[in-house]
Amino acid sequence: MKEPLLADDAFLADVEAARSEPGVHVWWLGQSGFLLQHQGRHLVIDPYLSDSLTRKYAPTETPHVRLTRRVVAPERLGFADAVLSTHSHGDHLDEETLRAIGAPVVAPAGTVELARERSGADVTGVTEGRVIEVAGFEIEPVPAVHPGDHCVGYVIAAGSHRLYHSGDTTPLDPGVRGVDVAFVPINGRLGNVDGPEGARLAHTVEAALAVPCHFDMFEFNTASPDAFVAECVRLGQPYRVLRQGERLQWVAAAPDS
Ligand SMILES: [Zn+2]
Repeated sequence: MKEPLLADDAFLADVEAARSEPGVHVWWLGQSGFLLQHQGRHLVIDPYLSDSLTRKYAPTETPHVRLTRRVVAPERLGFADAVLSTHSHGDHLDEETLRAIGAPVVAPAGTVELARERSGADVTGVTEGRVIEVAGFEIEPVPAVHPGDHCVGYVIAAGSHRLYHSGDTTPLDPGVRGVDVAFVPINGRLGNVDGPEGARLAHTVEAALAVPCHFDMFEFNTASPDAFVAECVRLGQPYRVLRQGERLQWVAAAPDS
């Protein structure tokens, strides 16, 4: 099993240390999950921090064998101000994880009932193009194309920074431009872009940095980031491949407003 760069106590110590550093901080939690910190407030996107799918699919044709050890137990993220979910698939709206975190949830309008059932928390339904404010973050749901129920991506503004999380999606132009970072899947199956398509999506939205996700979680549904990296190089698209539990930081050139 692969090891996160930071996990458990070491991961939480890094989250705590970031509080006294300027800017926006983002940690990859594995799969499409990220923790965002700005001015001491926290959002979690698409956290999957349990083994619920490994148990659920053990007796099936597609056992979900975990590839990377969990970054942190979800109950230790109780400081999160809110959880954002892009859609209701189990690796993006996990009951065990949501209940353990215990924070209010933001989810696509079409999944509100299910999100309430799974989280037991307050759920705010969102629609593409309607910006909401949560814990000092401005959150704009944007289109995503993924089989199943209502799915979205998110553009999250924190101070002067804008982060784009595509959610699970096949190739599309979400109409987003000029973001500091694009988090894009690269597994290339089950309704998701592959590495080169993910790189092109980041390039389309004019991301200053492309970061791949949705790999190294399950043995049956992963991909090497090599093809993503090769396409970024071909496009002249800056990129960074994170390890789980690793932090990215953006410090504003101008004062944060
Ligand atoms: Zn997924």
